[in-house]
Amino acid sequence: MLEITDLHATVADKPILKGLSLSINAGEVHAIMGPNGAGKSTLGYTLGGRPGYEVTGGAIRFAGQDLLALAPHERAAAGLFLGFQYPVEIPGVSFVQFLREAANAQRRSRGEEPLSGGEFLKLAREKAGLLRMDMDMLKRPVNVGFSGGEKKRAEMVQMGILDPKLAILDETDSGLDIDALRIVGEGINAIMRAPGKAVLLITHYQRLLDYVKPDFVHVLAAGRIVRSGGPELALELEEQGYEAVVA
Ligand code: ADP
Ligand code: MG
Ligand code: MG
Repeated sequence: MLEITDLHATVADKPILKGLSLSINAGEVHAIMGPNGAGKSTLGYTLGGRPGYEVTGGAIRFAGQDLLALAPHERAAAGLFLGFQYPVEIPGVSFVQFLREAANAQRRSRGEEPLSGGEFLKLAREKAGLLRMDMDMLKRPVNVGFSGGEKKRAEMVQMGILDPKLAILDETDSGLDIDALRIVGEGINAIMRAPGKAVLLITHYQRLLDYVKPDFVHVLAAGRIVRSGGPELALELEEQGYEAVVA
């Protein structure tokens, strides 16, 4: 699904990723943990193709393609979904409009017919239900006045509609209370725990991993994966802190 080999990337000419390798197979959930400033978000943005994140070495294969040769929208069309740490607000555009536009843009880029209004609403209701969001909330402008938890749940509705192969979720648990954490965790499982799909969770804390059980946990420090293990590694990090584990 995803094969990252010796990835080097710079932000504003500053080397951030320094030889990162990671391999994710379909059906797997991987968690990346690590101290502040380690390069976790940089990895997510680099995979998404965000402008300003320059790859200076290494290779990334995604679903049989050279990811680095694809523009950001082509990466999304190929099945990559990037959940943002700080979701944007779009005053004047309702979430429903935004979701429909996103769904149909994706279908167009795959050479598929756009969804009819009825088909789209059925899909949106189904995915909103998974995240316990009522449709009235989705009629409001994108993220404007949404709580942290509502933003994340709305983003997961978007993920459900786009139905990606690989979801990269950067601190999706930040700012969530216990109930929202459970709903978001269960939503991720419902949408992404399926054959042919995989998840990369970027998180500081073990707590999301109580709901979305990772198959592999990696520690990212100073731009590289310095340790990999099973779910028990997240518990060890939680108990001992990064310094003890990374040293
Ligand atoms: P993490 O997500 O692990 O906390 P980041 O990937 O956000 O880390 O940041 C890694 C490093 O890159 C940090 O030292 C950060 O200051 C730096 N960095 C990130 N974005 C920029 C930017 N736009 N300009 C300069 N430095 C940046
Ligand atoms: Mg950070
Ligand atoms: Mg970050």
